[in-house]
Amino acid sequence: MRKYNLGIDIGGTSIKIGLFDLDGNLRDVYSLKTNILENGKYILTDIANLLKKKLNVSEIRAIGFGVPGPVAKNIIINCVNLGWQRKDIVTEFKEVIGDNEILIRVANDANLAAAGEIYKGVASGYVNAFMVTLGTGIGGGVIIDGRVVDGINGVAGEIGHTHIDDLFDLKCNCGKSGCLETVASATGIVRLAKEYLKQSDKPSILRNFPDFSAKKVIDLAKANDELAQEIISKSMEYLARVLAKVSYIINPDIFIIGGGISNAGNFIIEQITKHYYPLVMPFIKHTNFEIATLGNEAGMFGACYLIK
Ligand SMILES: [Zn+2]
Repeated sequence: MRKYNLGIDIGGTSIKIGLFDLDGNLRDVYSLKTNILENGKYILTDIANLLKKKLNVSEIRAIGFGVPGPVAKNIIINCVNLGWQRKDIVTEFKEVIGDNEILIRVANDANLAAAGEIYKGVASGYVNAFMVTLGTGIGGGVIIDGRVVDGINGVAGEIGHTHIDDLFDLKCNCGKSGCLETVASATGIVRLAKEYLKQSDKPSILRNFPDFSAKKVIDLAKANDELAQEIISKSMEYLARVLAKVSYIINPDIFIIGGGISNAGNFIIEQITKHYYPLVMPFIKHTNFEIATLGNEAGMFGACYLIK
């Protein structure tokens, strides 16, 4: 009897597998290292071998996969971190696991993090949500009427690459410059801070460090370092401007803030909302902003939500 669903989050360094019963209760978690050798050709077989060891494959009803790259209609467009180009993992995984009857769905990990948060996290009960992940880069996930939105090329919600300003001429990993990610991700905050240190002669404890992290800038802003406060305020103003536009396009019930920067908690929400609220009409000011609660398990829960 098919009595389990699996939520599998394939990351660039590790793979998290959640074993769920058909009521959505998490029964077990397995994890393994991501073997990216030879363009990631061992990844699917590694997962299949682990599952065969742990479970009776004929008991698996469905599998949701989350991957770190754009996905459209269950086809991976590319996953640079895994070494994968365009890939049909639905067909490939059915072959390696040796069961053609398993239902398989695939989506981008940022979208699944959003799905995870509405399934079992801070946005539980909401059906329209936008999640922004502020980490090394910026990811975005869109849920409309309870459905994960990919877009034709799998980039729906990828606000990290919306153009916001040429002022600092910062180059982005995507090949363009002036993207939101260059000023509002963890690396972006550091780059913005270095621009501020160059262009201003205001005193700041930051000047004592040849190198520093985004967390350092945030901690100093919290401790009333005036320049650090200006930097974080500016960075979150850029993010708020984009989120205000998101509100007019999809009008979500809730914005979920995740990723390493969200560890700054309410402080970061205050920094975003002080710029967001003046930009939107009074009647959409009710939109909630919340910090994500599932951390790096969000993708696993979201992958299960996908095949629920
Ligand atoms: Zn970009």
